[in-house]
Amino acid sequence: MKDIEPADGRFLEYAPAPESTSILKVRTDYGLFIDGEWVQGRGKSFTTISPSSEKKIATIASASDADVDAAVAAARRAYEKSWAKLSGSDRGKYLFRIARLVQERARELAVAESLDNGKPIKESRDVDVPLVAAWFFYYAGWADKLDYAGLGANPRPLGVAAQIIPWNFPLLMLAWKIAPALAAGNTVVLKPAETTPLTALLFAEIVQQAGLPRGVVNIVTGAGDTGAALVRHPDVDKVAFTGSTAVGREIAKTVAGTHKKVTLELGGKAANIVFDDAPIDQAVEGIVNGIFFNQGHVCCAGSRLLVQENVHDEVIDRLKRRLSTLRLGDPLDKNTDIGAINSAEQLERIRTLSDIGEREGAERWSAPCEIPENGFWFAPTIFTGVETSSTIAREEIFGPVLSVLTFRTPAEAIAKANNTPYGLSAGIWTDKGSKILAMADRLRAGVIWANTFNRFDPASPFGGYKESGYGREGGRHGLGAYLKSGASK
Ligand code: NAD
Repeated sequence: MKDIEPADGRFLEYAPAPESTSILKVRTDYGLFIDGEWVQGRGKSFTTISPSSEKKIATIASASDADVDAAVAAARRAYEKSWAKLSGSDRGKYLFRIARLVQERARELAVAESLDNGKPIKESRDVDVPLVAAWFFYYAGWADKLDYAGLGANPRPLGVAAQIIPWNFPLLMLAWKIAPALAAGNTVVLKPAETTPLTALLFAEIVQQAGLPRGVVNIVTGAGDTGAALVRHPDVDKVAFTGSTAVGREIAKTVAGTHKKVTLELGGKAANIVFDDAPIDQAVEGIVNGIFFNQGHVCCAGSRLLVQENVHDEVIDRLKRRLSTLRLGDPLDKNTDIGAINSAEQLERIRTLSDIGEREGAERWSAPCEIPENGFWFAPTIFTGVETSSTIAREEIFGPVLSVLTFRTPAEAIAKANNTPYGLSAGIWTDKGSKILAMADRLRAGVIWANTFNRFDPASPFGGYKESGYGREGGRHGLGAYLKSGASK
């Protein structure tokens, strides 16, 4: 591989190529979006900052219990008076309109997402925002076809959906929640994560632009207590949550014994399995995409690399070389590969778990990159010599940290891959289709990628086994999570 290195031993240098923020008009203060209007929150407002600079972006309202109550009441009125009464094709028209508005405002949304979340603009621009539009287009198409979805006779909406999302894909998680709910005829109250409320608030403007009847979509900002108030509200019919397993467990307890339907999309510790017959360069790209995409803040990240023992050294060598070419820095720079860690708390968690990895005897290697002075950053890191019992092989780090384990036989790979309380995703890299099918049959994971990783499509269901949660989002299955079948019209 030496021959591709430039004579002076340095890789290509890139000139700065920052995306302009002039397209984004951020208000200094944001209220809550309830019943089609902006209202002040009665809780203690907070600040959202850019994790790459630690600079303030805006002041954000916090919803008190009374505000949550008002939002749920608005959603209930809208459900009864307007939304559930509309024909499926009329609901579909609104969803198509939202999808097109997302496309029209794509650049602005991408800039806002990178600013507030810290993810590279090339990801928010080329992955997050196009998928948001795709999700709305996809479910818009279902709105008038519910009777043909194979979900029982005369499927009916559930009512008011309480939706709580995390900070790693703020606008995309919003789309995963809101698009199927509205297509099925429900109204929603959505709470974005406290560190990334910006794009949900811009989405509220899109809801206004699209002329949705008031109260169909309500956005309440705030921290965990706002989310908890929403979950326990008696007039909520469905709770959809994406976030940590710990909070998911709390939510399951709260709704147990009530009429509320629940879907939980929680954490993961996916195995990305590389066999010796895999195309190694392609696999290396897949490993990088699997764990360093979005700084590893991905529930289905390939955070455990299981590599066949006889190609371990070759894979790790090539991986280190590839990681040495990644550019870490300003998320708004179009050449940036690795952006900022979303918050000081998350950075602390990544550091703590990495230190534990080292203490427990794994060998740590970090890509040589310059860490900016301000903001929250963590260089892409790999740990080799990781044991199945190591903390970093068991706990979700949710950062740019890869734990490498080895295996000799497919049976050993399966045993190690399944040796986790999670079961969200897995990856298989091999030249043999038969091996892919045999492995996929025995892996306990909701999503399994073969010779690729982190691919998403609105038509494809997504969700986990075991502590990764229950229920599916995406596809026809995702629609089913917002419907009950009713025997009579
Ligand atoms: P988190 O669970 O702390 O927060 C998620 C959301 O829940 C936030 O909006 C938060 O305000 C809210 N919340 C916190 N406490 C609550 C409570 N008691 N009741 C109701 N809502 C509450 O998680 P996080 O740190 O924001 O996100 C990272 C975690 O989410 C990771 O563990 C990751 O694996 C998981 N995640 C899973 C998926 C998936 O699809 N399975 C997707 C993204 C993230």
